[in-house]
Amino acid sequence: MKVAKFGGSSVASSEQIKKVGSVIGDDPDRKFVVVSAPGKRFSGDTKITDLLIELDELAEDNKDTQHKVTEIMKRFSEIVEELQVSKTVLDSIENTIHSTLNSDWTGQMKTDALKSIGEDSSAKIVSEYLKTQGLNAEYVNPQDAGIIVSNEPGNAQVLPESYEKLYTMRQKDSISVIPGFFGYAKSGQLITFPRGGSDITGSIVAAGVQADLYENFTDVDSVYVVDPRVIENPEEVTKLTYKEMRELSYSGFGVFHDEALMPAFQAEIPVCIKNTNNPSSSGTMIVSEKDPDTRCVVGIAADTGFSNLYVSKYLMNREIGFGRRLLQILEEEGISFEHAPSGIDNMSVIIRDNQLTAEKELNVINRIKSELNPETISIDYGFAMIMVVGEGMMNAVGIAEKSTAAFAEANISIEMINQGSSEVSVMFGIRKDKLDLAIKSLYNKFFE
Ligand code: ASP
Repeated sequence: MKVAKFGGSSVASSEQIKKVGSVIGDDPDRKFVVVSAPGKRFSGDTKITDLLIELDELAEDNKDTQHKVTEIMKRFSEIVEELQVSKTVLDSIENTIHSTLNSDWTGQMKTDALKSIGEDSSAKIVSEYLKTQGLNAEYVNPQDAGIIVSNEPGNAQVLPESYEKLYTMRQKDSISVIPGFFGYAKSGQLITFPRGGSDITGSIVAAGVQADLYENFTDVDSVYVVDPRVIENPEEVTKLTYKEMRELSYSGFGVFHDEALMPAFQAEIPVCIKNTNNPSSSGTMIVSEKDPDTRCVVGIAADTGFSNLYVSKYLMNREIGFGRRLLQILEEEGISFEHAPSGIDNMSVIIRDNQLTAEKELNVINRIKSELNPETISIDYGFAMIMVVGEGMMNAVGIAEKSTAAFAEANISIEMINQGSSEVSVMFGIRKDKLDLAIKSLYNKFFE
């Protein structure tokens, strides 16, 4: 039994939904279908979810909402007409929009309810379309499916009791089409996951029904070993482990919302990333364990937007509690940190720029100066992190050497190296203006 999730580009138009229909029709094991809201049809287009967010903002400001409702309904009408499915779906979508706008929900509750309409409508349309193709499909609301979440609007977390109810869905004969992106709190209130959250729904459903495979359909053939915007036609990754995917998506590997993998990961459900536009391509498999003889480095990921807080003090290594007190100051200022590599008499703390404001930065510096008496303290901006990822590194010799040689050949100075004891990745901090050059040089070393 398979759970197939289709992203925004796969349901963006009638033409795309027809492809979804044939993917489902092709394999009777695809018993659970999770859909996103219609996404962009072309570059510059607006996703339905973004139109719904605009609608919410108009409603919030007590401005006229009718033109936005018309714009949203136009997108849905086009799809429904071109697919030649019953117009009652359109009435149901329009009723949901109006009843949500006129409800007495306020603030984030209303925002979440409006945001969910994209996925909800998409699931209604897809299930109706599948019926016209002779398939026994049924729209299933996340509440009926059993997706129960924490009461955190826009940031729902699945609650463990969901899985028992979801498991009973296995008995159904029909194909269940479930909207992604939202669940219901115990109180019955609709709550959405973070943006991109339909992947999370897919993974929860796969874990709940104990699927043999969770297929995530997008618009790329596979995950690539490196960002295709930097390297043209990079090698495709055929197999990855969950841990490798986590490391890769941490540093800006756009394909997957890493949090989305957790439910599938915990239930040990294999994941396959596939392309709706080219379903016969084998895609990328994400599994819990890989054969030990496969290549040790699977990918290179990178991200910018880091700063380095550097503190040095002679005999720091003998001062009990220095590190803890330094990190506690950050904690008390509400700043989370990414890495903290240290030397004998110095410590660097790598922080994402979005964690810092001018005021927080000043507080942190003043407090470290007065509470820890360091000799030097500085904050250096404009860092990029590059990760060389692969579980096989644990048993391989020379990965760090090969990587540092790549930096040396490109004449790039490494500002920081961090290798966790898990040995799933080695991380390098460099100046951000050298990032593309560094990625190219590493790619040549490991993949060319
Ligand atoms: N439609 C939602 C978003 O745009 C969720 C998703 O597509 O996964 O964030």
